[in-house]
Amino acid sequence: MKSQEIRTKFLEFFKSKQHEIVPSAPMVLKNDPTLLFTNSGMAPFKEYFLGNATPKNNRISDTQKCLRVSGKHNDLEEVGYDTYHHTMFEMLGNWSFGDYFKKEAIAWAWELLTEVYKIPKDILYVTVFEGDEKDGTKMDQEAYDIWKQYISEDRILMGNKKDNFWEMGDQGPCGPCSEIHVDIRSAEEKAKVDGKSLVNEDHPQVVEIWNLVFMQYNRKANGSLVELPAKHIDTGMGFERLCMVLQGVQSNYDTDVFTPLIREIETITGVDYGKDEKVDIAIRVIADHVRAVSFAIADGQLPSNNGAGYVIRRILRRAIRYGFTFLNKKEPFIYKLAETLSHQMGDAFPEIRKQDSLVHNVIKEEEHSFLRTLDQGLLLLDKVIEDTKGKEVSGNKAFELYDTYGFPLDLTQLIAREKGYEINEEEFNEGMQAQKDRSRAASASETGDWISLLEDETEEFVGYDTLEVDVKLTRYRKI
Ligand code: ATP
Ligand code: MG
Ligand code: MG
Ligand code: MG
Repeated sequence: MKSQEIRTKFLEFFKSKQHEIVPSAPMVLKNDPTLLFTNSGMAPFKEYFLGNATPKNNRISDTQKCLRVSGKHNDLEEVGYDTYHHTMFEMLGNWSFGDYFKKEAIAWAWELLTEVYKIPKDILYVTVFEGDEKDGTKMDQEAYDIWKQYISEDRILMGNKKDNFWEMGDQGPCGPCSEIHVDIRSAEEKAKVDGKSLVNEDHPQVVEIWNLVFMQYNRKANGSLVELPAKHIDTGMGFERLCMVLQGVQSNYDTDVFTPLIREIETITGVDYGKDEKVDIAIRVIADHVRAVSFAIADGQLPSNNGAGYVIRRILRRAIRYGFTFLNKKEPFIYKLAETLSHQMGDAFPEIRKQDSLVHNVIKEEEHSFLRTLDQGLLLLDKVIEDTKGKEVSGNKAFELYDTYGFPLDLTQLIAREKGYEINEEEFNEGMQAQKDRSRAASASETGDWISLLEDETEEFVGYDTLEVDVKLTRYRKI
């Protein structure tokens, strides 16, 4: 089944269950003081759950463009190294705002996966919240009893607060969740670990595909929980992971969501995917990042030196330097992928087609200027090496290159090694740590999907999601 059809089938299914299908909200948020980017399907509906707005329809379904590169959900460092976390991905979702609850949410999720998509039941696992005494939360017996009508009990696993309890922040709506995981390991692989499930253990073929959140409580300022008068459903399924399962492949990058981009990268660079792990990581990074950057630009967020723009610039630079280091690309080339992306995604997301020349031009310009910076950094590194006595380059200098020219340590190391030098890594790490401490001190600690800076119920201060970068913390007062 092609990805296009997989997406359509999801939406049609929920349409048949009386859901209104709505387009994705932008991935870049302009008016939300609490978040830079949409990082889950529920984010655009936050005000409904908080009771600050009323939806036209109490059943909604969509596919939402999400970006997880900052704050509570930051998957950036995983991307390229594993095969199932992306920076930008689509989250398929269905919502009930005070309408249906657990029984329907579970029944429909099961029907869709096993009857419409025909996923074999014996590769599915589900999780149920186990309860947490300290927190006053109970095991979700209700969900357990519903699940056991569909799946054998040895496939229902208990999950802890981290994985199976959802909350928006220190206060507000919250509740247990049930996740659906797939296990697509071969029989041989399974035998190796004696039938152990490996759910939630970071195995690339045992992955979470769908999270069903049952919003049933409100957490008050004093930490106590009260039942919500109207309970809600919030679900999110990773589209690219679902495609992996339905297309019978072992990696999101082997689905038709990514293969056109990967083939194009191979054609442009003359390097093959699937032969050398380092090259493969670079190719995955580029295929992933070009999507995030292109969709951000199409949403109106250009790369820049602060805020959301700086996050986008860093993502693009990460892609450029992987291309530079591992694919030996010293000239701009990532911009050429914009056309492939627009062909592939333009039907589902018209904005990417509409803006394709802007995307193309902006990426090209960024590549030009960063590659020039890389050149300057290289000259500086040559000079540093020339001045180095012995064979160990100062970690402070390597940090300066990182800080000023965006030279990552692995790049500096690679170049130094070619000339027979090593970098004092310890010194580099000290510099890095000191910088992190400085930026941490300057920002508030993060508690959830947004940051509450004051406990006072009548005056709530919230700020941008904490970023590793020096985004200025903006404080807003909600009255
Ligand atoms: P994981 O444990 O795999 O990091 P998660 O628990 O953080 O996932 P949720 O916040 O529950 O994810 O989001 C709902 C669904 O979105 C997940 O079940 C998964 O299929 C998908 N998803 C989450 N993060 C990513 C990502 N970085 N890239 C692709 N899909 C993702
Ligand atoms: Mg995660
Ligand atoms: Mg998870
Ligand atoms: Mg989850």
